[in-house]
Amino acid sequence: MLTQKQMENFAELAVTIGANMQKGQEVVIRCDVNCADFAHLIAQKAYELGARKVLMQWRDEELSRISMLNASKEALCDIPDYQIAQTNYFIERKCCLISISAGNPAIYAGCDPDKIAAANVAGSKALAEFRKATMSNYLRWTIVSVPTAAWAKQVFPDIPEEEAIEKMWKAMEHIMRLDTENPTEAWRNHIDTLHKRANFLNAHNFEYIHLTNKHGTDLTVGLATDHVWLAAEEMGQDGLPFTANMPTEEVFTAPHNKKINGTVVNALPLSNNGNIIDGFKLTFKDGKVIDYSAKVGYEALKGLLEADEGVLSLGEIALIGKNSPIAESGILFFNTLFDENASCHLAFGASYPTTVKGGNDMTAEQLASHGMNSSLQHVDFMVGTKDIDIDGIGFDGSVTPLFRDGEWVKF
Ligand code: ZN
Ligand code: ZN
Repeated sequence: MLTQKQMENFAELAVTIGANMQKGQEVVIRCDVNCADFAHLIAQKAYELGARKVLMQWRDEELSRISMLNASKEALCDIPDYQIAQTNYFIERKCCLISISAGNPAIYAGCDPDKIAAANVAGSKALAEFRKATMSNYLRWTIVSVPTAAWAKQVFPDIPEEEAIEKMWKAMEHIMRLDTENPTEAWRNHIDTLHKRANFLNAHNFEYIHLTNKHGTDLTVGLATDHVWLAAEEMGQDGLPFTANMPTEEVFTAPHNKKINGTVVNALPLSNNGNIIDGFKLTFKDGKVIDYSAKVGYEALKGLLEADEGVLSLGEIALIGKNSPIAESGILFFNTLFDENASCHLAFGASYPTTVKGGNDMTAEQLASHGMNSSLQHVDFMVGTKDIDIDGIGFDGSVTPLFRDGEWVKF
């Protein structure tokens, strides 16, 4: 366990570096009922720092599982109006959002993948406006995480529950820089380093990123026209910075959804909608998956890739060195917030409009003309093995080595 002081520092990081809450602002905490203690600590901190009001958007993953097992597909896809009205309120009031992501990665084990996929699509459709508000940074938002019993058990299945939770806390203490004298300062320095990498990539304006390793990955990812590499802090539409993911180790941008060619093999299992997909290989041609296989969770991968047309292309490429604290921990968290920050990754589906110059002011057609991918899905999967080599290819054909053996060449 962390000390009370460390927990308070943690809550403060979420409110300040994370959501960058302003005095007088309304704050929405989105979390499962099993993370109530930490949510209350964040609420307390938010009020201390001048929140006008703190609202809770509770989830209940146990109920979600019970419903997935018992309710009809039709009922699961019927999203109540009041849920949409609730998120409309968040948009109208320009609330800042703090999500606690600590779900049991296997919550839907044994449930019908078809039902899960359908419910997921229906939810994304119904809440499309809210999704847009977060993905375009109209609202400032952040995601943090705390260990829960069910999650810890999945991560460390062979040790007693209490020990597993303790081990998770120990890892998080280091990953979240809560073991430093001044976590806020440590985060500031970390954010500076990530911004240096993004600036370097932006200065080069590469046409392609080329990834290769000994496991069969040989993929050329064209980048969206006028793409921008982003890292750590992003800019809200109101001009205030915020850090969407805590932890964050990535520098990322948008692929061009017609210029992806070759083969990629996953580096870590993908936990999607409570299913594990692993040992998978994808072949791309002119931006689209044309062939795929999986040793584990083939049906779940198939369900994901059939969600809509856009999910067959990519919306993100992100670079992370193997010496990041999460990668170093060697722990597979089965949680995207951590695992995506342990490894270079790509994402099936939607790109972030913020990853192209002026993207927030573009119409859907304009975004598409830049090669920006659209989908109701955005699902990260890890491709950064310890031996991955990555090069940036310029418009003049010049090759700049970015990664050798899984780590940044510079910085
Ligand atoms: Zn990412
Ligand atoms: Zn992503």
